[in-house]
Amino acid sequence: MAEKTINNIGVMTSGGDAPGMNAAVRAVVKTACKSGIEVFAIYQGYKGMVEGGDMIKRMTSDDVGGILHKGGTALGTARCHRFREREGRLIAAKNLVERKIDNLVIIGGDGSLTGANIFREEWQDLLNELVEKNEINREQADRHPKLKIVGLVGSIDNDLSGTDMTIGADTALRRIIDAIDAISSTAASHERTFVVEVMGRNCGYLALFSAIATGADYVLIPEQPPVADNWGKTMCDYLAEGRKAGKKKSLVIVAEGAIDKHGNPIKSTDVVEKLKEHLKVDVRLTILGHVQRGGSPTAFDRYMSIVLGYAAVKHLIDSDDEESKIIGLQKNKVTALSLMKSIEKTRSIAQYIKEGNFSKAIELRGGYFGDELKTFKTLAQAFPSKDKQTDGKLNLIVLNAGSLAPGMNAAVRTTVRMALESGHNIYGVQNGFKGLVEGDFRPMDWMEVEDWASEGGSFLGTNRMLVEGSNFYEMAKNMEKWKIDGMIVIGGSTAYVNAYRMFQRKSDFPAFDIPSVCIPATINNNLPGTDFCIGSDTALNNIVDAIDKIKESAVATTRTFVVEVFGRYCGFLAQLSGLATGAERVYIHEKGIHLKDLQEDVKMLVERFKEGKRLGLVIRNEFANKIYTTNFLSSLYEEEGGDVFDVRQAILGHLQQGGTPSASDRVLATRLSVKAVDFIERNINSDEKSYIGVGFKDGKLKEEKIENLPRQVSLEYFRPKEQWWENLSEINDTFK
Ligand code: ADP
Repeated sequence: MAEKTINNIGVMTSGGDAPGMNAAVRAVVKTACKSGIEVFAIYQGYKGMVEGGDMIKRMTSDDVGGILHKGGTALGTARCHRFREREGRLIAAKNLVERKIDNLVIIGGDGSLTGANIFREEWQDLLNELVEKNEINREQADRHPKLKIVGLVGSIDNDLSGTDMTIGADTALRRIIDAIDAISSTAASHERTFVVEVMGRNCGYLALFSAIATGADYVLIPEQPPVADNWGKTMCDYLAEGRKAGKKKSLVIVAEGAIDKHGNPIKSTDVVEKLKEHLKVDVRLTILGHVQRGGSPTAFDRYMSIVLGYAAVKHLIDSDDEESKIIGLQKNKVTALSLMKSIEKTRSIAQYIKEGNFSKAIELRGGYFGDELKTFKTLAQAFPSKDKQTDGKLNLIVLNAGSLAPGMNAAVRTTVRMALESGHNIYGVQNGFKGLVEGDFRPMDWMEVEDWASEGGSFLGTNRMLVEGSNFYEMAKNMEKWKIDGMIVIGGSTAYVNAYRMFQRKSDFPAFDIPSVCIPATINNNLPGTDFCIGSDTALNNIVDAIDKIKESAVATTRTFVVEVFGRYCGFLAQLSGLATGAERVYIHEKGIHLKDLQEDVKMLVERFKEGKRLGLVIRNEFANKIYTTNFLSSLYEEEGGDVFDVRQAILGHLQQGGTPSASDRVLATRLSVKAVDFIERNINSDEKSYIGVGFKDGKLKEEKIENLPRQVSLEYFRPKEQWWENLSEINDTFK
């Protein structure tokens, strides 16, 4: 890393706390220390900056040990009225200059970031005034001509323009869907109506995405108020229709900032009243409140915060900004954006909502917010809309293939409903390609998949059978018999390889000459054309949760854990869980394992333990190396660790695949399935019927021809030739 090139850095958390803030602070401190830059923690946000003294403390890498998995913020956060006044900022400037700090990493919401920008703009004036008042000398002032600001957005609402995700939003979504899943099971048992209020004063992100992820029936958000004046009646009629069609429960999600079309607040208690008034049912209200803010951050919030914290320090070292910047994620890439432009855009959304210009507000939300809203509405219906039925009714099949991936059921649910919404027939094929060979088809209907959004496992059944020989003839015969016009396969490499084989046999079997789509679903995240596969986020969270527990089991000893994770030949799960749990070393097949590295790694770990380290963590991908197995590594570390530490190994196995899918996996499943049905409808009349894989890459929905498979993946090891996450090992190396 570069030698010290800049003055000292101050890092602080401010405003509302958000899970993941600790991971960001840890990354800032570790990156700065490794770069030879002095770094100071400023406790309790601007309050600490104004108070000075012990509230601004020099940090070493060891000071940020043990905080990565913790919710909240270890640095504390407070509101500070004094900083809103120039007087307060003057004292803050003095406190910074005295510690040679002129670089700040501020982790907070739009209020904190706005304050930071004002501070930066005033900086020179403040220093001049301090010189005039003899609080600092001219030399000190001259040494710090500029204050550099980098902001990281910490906000569970995901309400800031310019970054795809804010720190804490993914965790909040996890808390919400966990709570709603629990509520849904009791609601269904009693055939009850539930109203759940979630956070989001100006932003419906948490409400909308949790509604999609849990298969809710109705959602009220600030960006799209109900069209009817009598919104209560409309909502109740809609829910009553659902009950009549066979729904066992009704679930309404209300964003804290929901409004009617005139801008009047719709409170969750108003919703309850309307339900009681019009439906005369027993309604239960749950206001989730601070549960959403609390608890351990998700895998995503941890690794994103680490990546952003690392990038923030790099940015301070490398760039010469004339304005304050936000480091955020855009299209899955770390990006530096103008802080004030992002905040202005964010505020303009709130203004558009105030003015009743809702379509503009939705447009500015960006991403796929508007599309998701439309999708939610379709999925929440009690039956397919009569007016949308097309003339060209198609017969489609949907199947799962490959190993189990949490989120497969959510994908089938959306596929079935989207197909039925367009008036097609859709058949579920049992047990993957085995069912296709054996003709195990059954028509699926709307209500059958009602509760599938949140369920783990695969209700259609899945296996790793690869088609060959007479299988092709059998499949073609069945597809002809059922007059199949299009195929959607949700699965991993098995799905892609089988689809590729069918595509190659199109000229032999006309039944295969139909538009076909693979939806990537595998915990290994080893498929081409997508940054994320359905199931990989859940698996990552399963791993991180397990490792948190494993680490806690070692409190009274000095111990190193060697943990083996899934992934086949793809190191995604190992690399990302390594980042998210603070592993000292990650072994993946992509990088190989070499004797020289092993010697260095063991030596490094022994030294660290001698310096006071109490816990070591090494993660090994299951197929990282044939010879250097997990057993081998454990024995090696045990032997070389001598008296300094003992070693335990944990092979995590199938717990990685189990459990309910994460919110991200459910949302991804929904997005990709909409795209899959849409592709079949678009491709049905073209001369050349295509086989494609859909994906979400660089923040966009993508289609990739299956015939490109041999060019995009290394077939020997089945993983994409280019993987976006591989350079993240640079961060592991910096921190180790
Ligand atoms: P958030 O950062 O979560 O939006 P707040 O709006 O409460 O939270 O801001 C946190 C702190 O940032 C405030 O207590 C104050 O010290 C500082 N701050 C916010 N807005 C400004 C401003 N316009 N000027 C100066 N400081 C501000």
